[in-house]
Parts: sequence; structure tokens; C-alpha cells
Amino acid sequence: MFDASLKYGILGLARSGIAAAYKLKEMGAKVFLSELQAADQISSVQELKQNFACEFGGHSEKLLDCDVWIVSPGIPLNVPIISQGRAQGIRMISEIEFGYQIKAKDSKIIAVTGSNGKSTTASLIYHILSELGKKCILAGNIGQAFCSFPIHKPGIEYIVLEISSFQLDLIESFAPDVAILLNLTPDHLNRYPDFDAYCDSKMGIFRYQSSADYAVLYHDSIQIKKRDQDLKAQKLYFSSTARDTSAYLNDKFIHIGDQTFSMYNLKLKGHHNKLNCMAALLSIQALGLDMDRSMKAAASFKALPHRLEYVDSINGVAFYNDSKATNCDSTKNALESFERPIRVILGGSDKGEDFSLLTDSLQKHAVKAYVTGDTGDLMRQAWLGKMPLEFADDLESCVRQALADAAIGDNVVLSPACASFDRFRNFEDRGETFKTIVRKIKREKE
Ligand code: ADP
Repeated sequence: MFDASLKYGILGLARSGIAAAYKLKEMGAKVFLSELQAADQISSVQELKQNFACEFGGHSEKLLDCDVWIVSPGIPLNVPIISQGRAQGIRMISEIEFGYQIKAKDSKIIAVTGSNGKSTTASLIYHILSELGKKCILAGNIGQAFCSFPIHKPGIEYIVLEISSFQLDLIESFAPDVAILLNLTPDHLNRYPDFDAYCDSKMGIFRYQSSADYAVLYHDSIQIKKRDQDLKAQKLYFSSTARDTSAYLNDKFIHIGDQTFSMYNLKLKGHHNKLNCMAALLSIQALGLDMDRSMKAAASFKALPHRLEYVDSINGVAFYNDSKATNCDSTKNALESFERPIRVILGGSDKGEDFSLLTDSLQKHAVKAYVTGDTGDLMRQAWLGKMPLEFADDLESCVRQALADAAIGDNVVLSPACASFDRFRNFEDRGETFKTIVRKIKREKE
């Protein structure tokens, strides 16, 4: 547990590390910051130097002098400094764990994890809670870091957290009141020894829960069902089909207990978003809040940017930005979300995925794939001869080619199935670039 007399080392000075550093200082603990990158790569370096003892450009013996490390989710746990720290018996936690240890007792935590749909579901829960007039925050992987909020002070009723597996790898007591696992499909295989290890890491969200807590789980996932026998929390399942679950889909309706929610009202596109909506509503039910008002609130929630976001139409061809689709499963869902086959733009930086997992979906739901980025060769190996493919040097060439090929009524969707770091700062940068290209071409055509 948190102890202000201990010396804390912060490993990695990105958003969550910096937030944890300031929180530790506010709470009177000694803090030492250590960053592998050179000082000129860190945006707020002057301010950090004024406030903390710190080092840049590498980790020194000073870091080994700390009692506890708060390790950035961006640092793989197999790097030498982590092994060195472990050999010295240094306790290592994530920023989410630290936030949990200091949060006020009256704040309830709803934590959302899964391979896909975390940001949408966490934002939807936050939207519903806000509409119900609750004092709540949305934090973690989305928006601001958990520790950047006044979480150690009473008054925040609900904390909605989007949690990655990297944050879950270093917990020692984190026990959300409601934990949601949306799905388990391959992702981040460059950080885990294999898919099983990645799945086990995600299951960590339930590890410290008690029978007073709730676990919201996707019933139709074999990977989840294989692993959920020993959970201590009360289990609430949602399903596309099974009717003996806490929430299920029936045509255009969600059934939760004896209540029914019409999907006609939902602004979110795609089957996957109905699943996200069921998970969100089950978490609201677990908190004992007004379900009628919550269902109405869910209906007014709009899709987040970069998730199947409609951009514009050029000459009757519609363009959608799904830049947040950074793995095969999310792209598969994008492909299945349109009434007729789409022209899909794919490719980016490699996360170790097997792109042949997408072959069936592409054959069924895409007229042609336009490929760019570092994964070009891997995608060529996976799909050449199996469907129409076009390779291009950059995103703009893909957009122009797709438009040139398209007929009125076609949809062109950027849904890369890859991370963005080969050519862009992040998925937002990639999505904004796509939107700018579409708008530029539209102006040219006018
Ligand atoms: P995350 O935060 O987990 O990356 P997002 O809500 O940002 O999830 O959605 C990312 C992409 O994943 C979306 O573009 C969408 O295509 C896909 N997606 C969203 N929800 C689901 C789901 N429940 N199952 C599978 N794919 C999904």
C-alpha cells in the first residue's frame, strides 16, 4: 500500500508517469524520475527539473536506490533495467495501481478492458453517469491519466477507467467495484510471449476483486469462458445469442433482466457497438442505478472520433475514418459494419499479428484492399491472389486510388489493422491526416 515514507522511482516520463510524480509530491513522498530518452525529447522538462530529482538519457544507480517503482505502460517488462530492479527486490507497480492505493474510499471504480471497444465502452459509461447527474471522471488510457485527477480527495462518486494489459501487468491490489472484459482477441503479440500470456494478463482485472464486486464478461468468447471459473466477483454475462445471460441481443433489442432497449435509438454503428452497449448497461445495473434513464442516455451517445467516423462524401462515395482499428479483430468488425462490401485501406506498423486471420472477412466484405505502410510485405504474403489488392507508398495515394476505382454508393474505410507508429505520431494523427486528405480531394473536385 502507499507509504509516504518510502522513496518512489518513476520509470518513463509519459502522461501517466508525470501525473504519478506530481501526485506523489503532493502526498509528501520522495520521488526520483528516470527517463531513457534525452531531456530534449521530453516536453515539460524544465518544469520537471524544477520540481523533482531526475535523470534523462538512461537509468542510473540512483533509480536502484528507490523502494518502489512506478513503471510506465510503455516499458516492456523484459528490458534489462526491469530485470535489474527485480533482482534487487524493488517493488514495481503501474500508475493505475498507485492511483487505486491512494484514491478516496467513497469513489467507486468501473474498469474497462478488452482487446477492442475499451474507449467506446468507457466513454459510454461516463456519458450515462454524467447524464444521470453523477460526479464522475473518465481516465486511464483515454483522456487524462488516473493520477492527474484529485482522486485522493473525497467527492468523486464514480471513476471510469480504460485499462490496458500493460497497466494490469503491474498490479498488487487493484480491485474495481465493476470490472468489464469486452473480448479477448490477438493484440500486442510483440509484448507477450504468446496469445495465452496476453489473455492471462487481461484477466488480471478480476484478480483482486471480492464477492462484493462485479465482473461483466462477454459470454460468447471462448478465451474468456476458458478462464473465468475461479473469479470471486459476481459474474454478469452479455451475449449476442445466449438467452440465459444477464444481457442479450434479440434482433434489434437488448434485453437486460425484464427490461428491453431498442437499438433503433442507438447512434453507434455496427454489431460490436451493441455488445459495447450491453456491457455498459450491465455495469450501470451492477451499480444499482436507474436503468430507464440510463438506456435513454445511451441513445444520445455519439461515436468517438477515429472509430468508424463518417468523414465526408466525394461524388457519392462515402469516406469513414476507423484509424483506431489497430488489430485484425477491430478491422474485421469494421468490415462487417457496412451493408455492402467496402474499399478498405490497411497497413501500418507491425504488432506481430497473423494477417491471414482477416482473409475470410476481406473476401466476404471488401471489394478491394489498398495497402500502405511497414506491414505491406506481410499483407502481400497473406492476401496476394486471394482478393483484389493495390499497394501504394502513402495514405494519400491509397485514398486517391480508392476514389478512382469507386462507384457511386461505395464506402471507403481507413481501418488499418495495425498500429500507426511507422508513419504517424499515433492513431489520432493518422486519422486526422486521412480526414485532411479526404477534404483536400473534395475541394479539388468541386
Ligand atoms: P479500444 O479502446 O479498445 O482500442 P475503441 O472503442 O477505441 O477500442 O475501438 C477501436 C476499434 O475497435 C473500433 O474502430 C472498432 O472498429 C473496434 N471495436 C469497437 N468495439 C469492439 C468490440 N466490442 N469488439 C470488436 N471490435 C470492436
